[in-house]
Amino acid sequence: MLEHGELSATGEALGKLYVAKYFPPEAKAKAVELVNNLLKAYDADIRTLTWMSPETREKALYKLHHFGVKIGYPDHWRDFSALEVRRGDFLGNVGRAASFELRERLAQVDAPSDRSRWGMTPPTVNAYEDAQTNTINFPAGILQPPFFDASAIDAVNLGGIGMVIGHEIIHGYDDQGRKFDADGNLKDWWTPGDAASYNKRDACLTDEYTQDVPEAGVKQNGKLSAGEDTADNGGIHIALAALEAALRTQGKSLDDPAPGGFTELQTFFLSNAKIWCGSVRPEAARTRVLTQGHSLPRYRVNNVVGNMSEFAHAFSCHPGQAMVRANACRVW
Ligand SMILES: [Zn+2]
Repeated sequence: MLEHGELSATGEALGKLYVAKYFPPEAKAKAVELVNNLLKAYDADIRTLTWMSPETREKALYKLHHFGVKIGYPDHWRDFSALEVRRGDFLGNVGRAASFELRERLAQVDAPSDRSRWGMTPPTVNAYEDAQTNTINFPAGILQPPFFDASAIDAVNLGGIGMVIGHEIIHGYDDQGRKFDADGNLKDWWTPGDAASYNKRDACLTDEYTQDVPEAGVKQNGKLSAGEDTADNGGIHIALAALEAALRTQGKSLDDPAPGGFTELQTFFLSNAKIWCGSVRPEAARTRVLTQGHSLPRYRVNNVVGNMSEFAHAFSCHPGQAMVRANACRVW
């Protein structure tokens, strides 16, 4: 994340062409609406939390209301006219692109920070929250199926990109993000009591994810993946709350049948599982579990839904069954 190499130096120029072809204004409008609905759902969640004092709650809402939201592509495209590209001179082009990038970066030293700059190019299939600018960012590349389809029903989009949007919002309130304030400064805005409540709840997740990962032959350290796991678990709750609200306006409920033969709620969970489908070799799985902060995709689905009574309800799972955790964790 937030990685710039020589080859991505012209990523925004490519992105302009990509967006023209794959991200029409209607898709952007729909994505903006989705993000706003998720922010609304999280606002309501913060207001009704039983474990947070009014003092911290007010600051948590203040931070949320000051999120910068970037969707699809930059408002102002970067000007590449000063970058000379010569046909047939690949090595030279790479060198010139690197110098161009370096000059741009040096020009930012001592300049006021620019929240509108992107750390990912538009075609990137990823998203990020940046605590230091208090922004959440969703490139056009992830606003595509199976994550997002402007023509799909809400249950599909909210189980897919909705959960990803929720995940990035919660990063602003995970074990690391919660230490930054609305202006992106490393500043503690929690009362000691609320911080203790947070840590207690997060410890439940840390314990849960300190687990054997047999396909990788290693044990996961739940403290390493705490931020991502907190974002996964909280993100799906606010996506589901947004779905419930959307259905309510249509006079429907989560248990109503949706097109495709499943209920709205089942469709939501199936869509969520689908976005994490993938295949990882055991060696790569082992490296990932031991060195980076994301749980393997299988656990990003199974651990999360095992914590949710809504999932048990959707698929008639009972206590004692594999997908129902006796000690269900909940932070957000
Ligand atoms: Zn994340």
